[in-house]
Amino acid sequence: MAFVPPPITADPLTHLLPVLVAVLGACIGSFVNVVAWRLPRQESLLGPGSHCPRCGTPLAWFENVPIVAWLALRGRCRHCHQPVSQRYPLVELLSAGLWVAVLLGHPDAMGANPASLPLLLAGWLLVSWLLPLVLIDLDSLWLPEPLCRFGLLLGIAVTALLGLSQGAATGKALLLSHLIAAAAGLLGFEALSALAQKLMGRPALGLGDAKLAALMGAWLGPIGLLLAVGLAVVAGALIGALGRLSGRLHRHQPFAFGPFLALGTVAVWVLGEPFWMAVAGFSAGV
Ligand SMILES: [Zn+2]
Repeated sequence: MAFVPPPITADPLTHLLPVLVAVLGACIGSFVNVVAWRLPRQESLLGPGSHCPRCGTPLAWFENVPIVAWLALRGRCRHCHQPVSQRYPLVELLSAGLWVAVLLGHPDAMGANPASLPLLLAGWLLVSWLLPLVLIDLDSLWLPEPLCRFGLLLGIAVTALLGLSQGAATGKALLLSHLIAAAAGLLGFEALSALAQKLMGRPALGLGDAKLAALMGAWLGPIGLLLAVGLAVVAGALIGALGRLSGRLHRHQPFAFGPFLALGTVAVWVLGEPFWMAVAGFSAGV
């Protein structure tokens, strides 16, 4: 008699995996909070361990559990009972969502056939690198140069690794196009910034944005960079208009553009170029 395996209704891993990835993403989000707080203050990222920003009491391990600890302590420090910003759990939640989005996404920025696990790791690295940049830009209208520079170098390294794993010719072509995109991002934004300064007599774009655009080119390549910048401009204009209409932004008030560039980058990485090309084509046709 032939052995008949029991029917498999669903692989438990397919349901468990997004949950595990979300937990991991939330933990990375917790570290992103630390980076965004300490980097602008030139504090070490490694030590001392987390402490309450108000009373300085070191946190116990259970006070460091992402999202859950904040909810359990009702957004207050266990020692001084001062409120703890809701930004901490929100960033952890956002990071969890981004990690799951990368897991479920279908990026095409690294050629047609990159190995799936390295591509997944690259996506997680990219979103986790952009998140502290976004937070620091929101806090202080400043994109730290080292984060942009090393993020760019990482993008080149990832492109080289994933490109060469698909053959020397593919690797060379991919690396060349991403290097050109990085240079075009930097020079294009610097030229735009200089032009805007000349036309309006005041800086309209930070030079940090040019460095972030270079990073984006290194990760996304030329077409991905164009799509991501296009998305950033549309989203930035929309939010800017809403800000003006609601009275939250006044005329000529600068606002951080880095978060919009990061949003465009993640959107292009996760959903892929064909999706956004179709959206752009559809918008142009309407
Ligand atoms: Zn405290």
